[in-house]
Amino acid sequence: MGVWAHRYDQRVNADGSSGEAIARAGKLLARASSVVVLTGAGISTESGIPDFRSPGGLWTRYDPRKLTFDLFCAYEETRAQYWKMSTESYPVLRDAEPNAAHRAVVAIEKAGKLLRLVTQNVDGLHRKAGSSAERTTEIHGCSLRAGCIDCGERADREALHRRLVAGELVVPTCEACGGRVKPATISFGQAMPEFETAQAFEAASQCDLMLVIGSSLVVYPAASLPDTAVSSGAPMIIVNNEPTSKDELADVLLRGSAGESMSLLLRAAGIALP
Ligand code: NAD
Ligand code: ZN
Repeated sequence: MGVWAHRYDQRVNADGSSGEAIARAGKLLARASSVVVLTGAGISTESGIPDFRSPGGLWTRYDPRKLTFDLFCAYEETRAQYWKMSTESYPVLRDAEPNAAHRAVVAIEKAGKLLRLVTQNVDGLHRKAGSSAERTTEIHGCSLRAGCIDCGERADREALHRRLVAGELVVPTCEACGGRVKPATISFGQAMPEFETAQAFEAASQCDLMLVIGSSLVVYPAASLPDTAVSSGAPMIIVNNEPTSKDELADVLLRGSAGESMSLLLRAAGIALP
């Protein structure tokens, strides 16, 4: 467990009146020098990208059980359905703009406090906001890229998208080997990328603060990164608008919008926002 014995569970109000929780979290961030930030879909909802639960979100219209990695590999029909879904979501992700919470993560890095940013998101918004490639681990890949799952050749996602929208293409194939092309994200049933997963867990075991933003912490193995950090002695702050599966491990819970909570947290820690 971390140094702080108490746990605070207070809403963050627009006027910043949740003083005690913010102040406590601010102190943890101010004294930390090797922070691991773990983000999930909730950091991007204020940028207009729905999370899993949001009404109208992608998974309310497509059945994930029918779009697993094995089925993608096996059936042309699944690949067609997958690309149909991706063609719907791609422009939303491509055109989204980072919000105050993404910028706050950049500020933590600029302040020299970031050990590693681990994101479960596939929207590329951390990189767009200015988080460095060196310190960012996209543990579930990125939807803005695509590649061949047979030979590894990269494909031009934007060019594919234009052809899919124009109806010239239904199931993209690899220009190098004729193999199966897939958006560069980790699908249900697909193995996690070894390098990125190891990098994330190593950072979690070495950090002196775990800061989770906008994740329900139910998707594994990412959801065990908090356990690794806490069992290695790091305190943990969770920023989320509803309870998560790891709340009992946290030293401070900030229950509010990610953008607002992160702005208040940075101010409390004395870190300048860009
Ligand atoms: P999740 O949907 O399970 O959890 C998101 C959490 O954030 C929820 O608890 C929700 O209440 C909270 N939340 C939503 N908006 C918020 C806001 N403005 N402020 C504070 N909290 C907010 O997401 P997850 O834990 O990331 O797991 C879902 C999986 O889906 C991940 O693997 C992720 O890769 C993928 N996904 C990614 C995106 C994206 O790239 N933006 C979007 C949807 C799903
Ligand atoms: Zn190929």
